[in-house]
Amino acid sequence: MAFELPKLNYAFNALEPHIDAKTMEIHHGKHHQAYVTNLNNAIAGSDTEKMSIEDICKNISKYPAAVRNNGGGHYNHSLFWEIMAPNAGGTPSGEVAKAIDSDLGGFEKFKTDFAAAGATRFGSGWAWLCVKADGKLCVCSTPNQDNPLMDIADCKGTPILGMDVWEHAYYLNYQNRRPDYMNAFFNVINWNKVNELYLKAKK
Ligand code: MN
Repeated sequence: MAFELPKLNYAFNALEPHIDAKTMEIHHGKHHQAYVTNLNNAIAGSDTEKMSIEDICKNISKYPAAVRNNGGGHYNHSLFWEIMAPNAGGTPSGEVAKAIDSDLGGFEKFKTDFAAAGATRFGSGWAWLCVKADGKLCVCSTPNQDNPLMDIADCKGTPILGMDVWEHAYYLNYQNRRPDYMNAFFNVINWNKVNELYLKAKK
């Protein structure tokens, strides 16, 4: 069973004005599609085809760079589309809100630390909110298409929120202004979904 590009739960223009329709169309239809296609090509005919993308990531040190880059790309973007939504943003609620208060020093401190994780990631990569093995939240970043599920990652955990800071995520609308894009991203975070992923990761 080959991996497939997941459908978006909203229209390309649904996240405007924060994320523009053209960026969404190219990001989903071209960039993510390329990760899926290249991942499928890299594992064609091997037992890896039967594995989940999560299990591939967890054992990524056993695979060549094409699987790391494209498998990471597929996992990361699949999460990314889900943790964004129209008419979202604002402040978190539910159990994840309590955990942000107790583990990360509150929402304002989380926002500062998460934005700093994205801003200080040189070149391409991702900023993450994760649930660590001990059940506590942490904020970190990874290079390229790596993620905290990967056995080679410096920060390990289950991602529940990821922000793509590759230029392809913002260049058409924000050019080189990554901080403006990151501010806009906070307006589209689907905190209900993040809370759902938090509860699942804690089980
Ligand atoms: Mn991307």
